[in-house]
Amino acid sequence: MDFRLSEEQEALRESVRDFAREVVAPAIAEHYEQHTFPYEIIRQMGKMGLFGLPFPEEHGGMGGDYFALCLALEELARVDSSVAITLEAAVSLGAMPIHRFGTAEQKAQWLPKLLSGEALAGFGLTEPGTGSDAGGTQTRAVLDGDEWVINGSKAFITNSGTDITALVTVTAVTGTNPDGSKELSTIIVPSGTPGFTVAPGYSKVGWTASDTHELTFDDCRVPAANLLGARGRGFAQFLRILDEGRIAIAALAVGLAQGCVDESIKYAKEREAFGRPIGAYQAIQFKIADMEMKAHTARLAYYDAAARMLAGEPFKRQAAIAKLHASTIAVDNAREATQIHGGYGFMNEYPVARFWRDAKILEIGEGTSEVQRMIIARDLGM
Ligand SMILES: Cc1cc2nc3c(=O)[nH]c(=O)nc-3n(C[C@H](O)[C@H](O)[C@H](O)COP(=O)(O)OP(=O)(O)OC[C@H]3O[C@@H](n4cnc5c(N)ncnc54)[C@H](O)[C@@H]3O)c2cc1C
Repeated sequence: MDFRLSEEQEALRESVRDFAREVVAPAIAEHYEQHTFPYEIIRQMGKMGLFGLPFPEEHGGMGGDYFALCLALEELARVDSSVAITLEAAVSLGAMPIHRFGTAEQKAQWLPKLLSGEALAGFGLTEPGTGSDAGGTQTRAVLDGDEWVINGSKAFITNSGTDITALVTVTAVTGTNPDGSKELSTIIVPSGTPGFTVAPGYSKVGWTASDTHELTFDDCRVPAANLLGARGRGFAQFLRILDEGRIAIAALAVGLAQGCVDESIKYAKEREAFGRPIGAYQAIQFKIADMEMKAHTARLAYYDAAARMLAGEPFKRQAAIAKLHASTIAVDNAREATQIHGGYGFMNEYPVARFWRDAKILEIGEGTSEVQRMIIARDLGM
């Protein structure tokens, strides 16, 4: 058993760390404050090959693996989560379904621009009336000649409304299974298709420099060939995508938790109270030691889940554990980092204020903490 990174992995980690510190850190506060999408940062991430990390070179990928993506996400989130979630959603929710389930034509059409970061794709599963219970999807798609006609709406879809969004994959009811349950399928809807409307961006508590919209489909017609994978496979497809995505969200959460440690150490050495730096007090040292312990153990949990996934072993339970634990400790660390910063921790100019606002969603997105516990319990045979 060896959790040390290879030279190649360490080099990737360092280059993303440098990029996060030198390019993301100076620019992101303004985007966060203004709720603007950081196109220039995303363009540079594309040039670095981050959007192609876990994909084969054949379609413009970097030939790496899912763990490489996780390492990059951790380092980005150590500085900023809006940028990290943009990459996470673009790769693991946007391009990955096309890579995993698409036809040769669909891959050739979409993957080169998605993997270069020139374009983004959204993953339309959640609806205004149903999130955790994704099987409760109401959006319908009916085959009319050689076209799907889609009606319904989707809520909270990341990367769905940027200037460079090329498509969203939409989960829709396409019929009824022999056992009476809904037949769910996934359909590619290119941006700009008539009948596909993107609402203005939500006003969010955190991740304010990331792109999130409600989507409406009103007699929206796309070619029958836009079906992604086999008809009726929608449920199995999104379960697979979400299982993987949980490891990526865990990595992002570990990054945020580690960023809280970084900022707290820096501040505790500078800030003085009662004639000494606050970091000289054991009460502050213990808080930082606990934060480091939590970031470290959560990192081991996602490394383990990723290793199992890459070995082709079952990883559902480990991914849920990693996501549940990492998101919980990210919220803990953000709370403590803010506490260590005192009143300044409540000021938006300090990165910990951003961490605090960004942490909560980690316990909700890509499966709430309750859903993770349901997955773990089910996997334990309960
Ligand atoms: C910023 C942001 C970005 C997002 N990006 C995307 C995206 O790109 N694509 C996408 O498809 N979705 C996206 N989502 C949606 C996200 O995945 C859902 O919000 C999440 O899965 C929870 O669904 P919900 O909001 O409908 O909550 P609900 O399912 O309504 O849950 C409400 C509460 O009830 C609890 N609950 C539900 N069922 C049970 C149960 N059986 N037992 C116990 N407790 C239960 C939940 O845990 C939660 O606490 C995003 C959300 C946000 C906020």
